[in-house]
Amino acid sequence: MSKQLLSQIPAINKILLLDEVKALINEYTEVAVKSAIKEYIDRIKQEILNEELFEVPSLEKIVVEVAQIVKKEDRNSLRRVINATGTILHTNLGRSLLSQKIKENIESVAFNYSNLEFDIDNKKRGSRYVHLIDIIKKLTGAEDVLVVNNNAAAVLLTLNTLVKDKEIVVSRGELVEIGGAFRIPEIIKLSGGTPIEVGTTNKTHLKDYENAINDNTGALLKVHTSNYKILGFTKEVSNEEISYLARENELVSINDLGSGQFVDFSKYGLPYEPTVKEVLDSGIDIVTFSGDKLLGGPQAGIIVGKKEYIEKMKKNQLTRTLRVDKMTLAALEATLKLYLDEKEALEHIPTLHMISLSKERLFGKADILKTRLSDLDFKITIAEDKAEVGGGSYPASYLESVVVKLEHPRLSATELERRLLEVEIPIITRIKDNELILDMRTLRTREFDLVKQALIEAAK
Ligand SMILES: *Cc1c(COP(=O)(O)O)cnc(C)c1O
Repeated sequence: MSKQLLSQIPAINKILLLDEVKALINEYTEVAVKSAIKEYIDRIKQEILNEELFEVPSLEKIVVEVAQIVKKEDRNSLRRVINATGTILHTNLGRSLLSQKIKENIESVAFNYSNLEFDIDNKKRGSRYVHLIDIIKKLTGAEDVLVVNNNAAAVLLTLNTLVKDKEIVVSRGELVEIGGAFRIPEIIKLSGGTPIEVGTTNKTHLKDYENAINDNTGALLKVHTSNYKILGFTKEVSNEEISYLARENELVSINDLGSGQFVDFSKYGLPYEPTVKEVLDSGIDIVTFSGDKLLGGPQAGIIVGKKEYIEKMKKNQLTRTLRVDKMTLAALEATLKLYLDEKEALEHIPTLHMISLSKERLFGKADILKTRLSDLDFKITIAEDKAEVGGGSYPASYLESVVVKLEHPRLSATELERRLLEVEIPIITRIKDNELILDMRTLRTREFDLVKQALIEAAK
């Protein structure tokens, strides 16, 4: 029985002659298509032998299945998704999106030779670290700048260079752990320093820092409590007080801001947080922050502050191991240039744009999407909801948002959610009260057609 079935399976060469298969070869490669045919035929053979299949699939069916295998195999592991969750800096979805405005900059540096380490004016070897100095100085008032791979690296390099073998005083209220196993006490130890915890979880006073200072003390470290908030009976010591105390005792004052920002977002409904410039103005010696959180640029760790300290960091062997590549530098420089005009930054840097969208504009987007989807088999409602900045910034704060809720006559919200993850460009959604939610803060108008296609495919 199975022997006879096996003999009916068409030969690979015959399948290759089909017009649909030729078209596939044109779109992908012959190697890919042949390998997909082989994979499918092997699968059929196995199913026949296991007595799970009692009929050889038609040529039409074979073509459809082979096309699916080719497509799937062609997909990159790292690929585009659509973020409809309302969490702007979604750590799992790549944090900040780069501005379309900086595309040319990245292309021109990535696909051509560049002056990465060449000083054109003096016709001699240059440094990759010079390219961002002027722009960051201008935006933050810093004396000097160093950019490394990410902010975790920035903290490690700062501590290792300036206070290795010394004690580093940090408040118990600021012993942060962020996702991916970055813990402040561990990073301090890794840098060679010894963490000295002072104060309590909810209150740390200036005298707690004062009492901890001895001959072995190297630095007073403040850490932004990026992903949690201590509420109620609380007290933290200001940047001004920390920097003053450090200076009096000839110590270094450091602030790991995490998600550093150049713009005051309090006018968009978020709590006030000092900008990088304000923290430096308060007298702190070294400030570190991420490139791809609230700044809205590529992954990077930015160190700003006193020249004498940053000069030392540049000479540390670790700097070479943490160095940024040219595409990062190109993307960061171009992103930062947008900040020279705050209006430009707010309009063209996606992270800033999403934070600053007004409720009217969000309602406008929801109306457009509702109309676009009106011919589909979904019940669509527009409602107000809450979105968040995410990415370890503004913990426990929400942005007002507008969402489009979808209900399908046959599919449950969880089933629909699952199917939307399986389409060509997966749509990441949220479920609330058994309804599927698309949040207008993160879903971009240019993605509406893709959402529509995905919904059509998912509801098939
Ligand atoms: C996010 C964050 C870091 C790590 O920054 P990466 O750029 O993710 O390496 C370090 N410290 C604080 C306080 C943070 O919020």
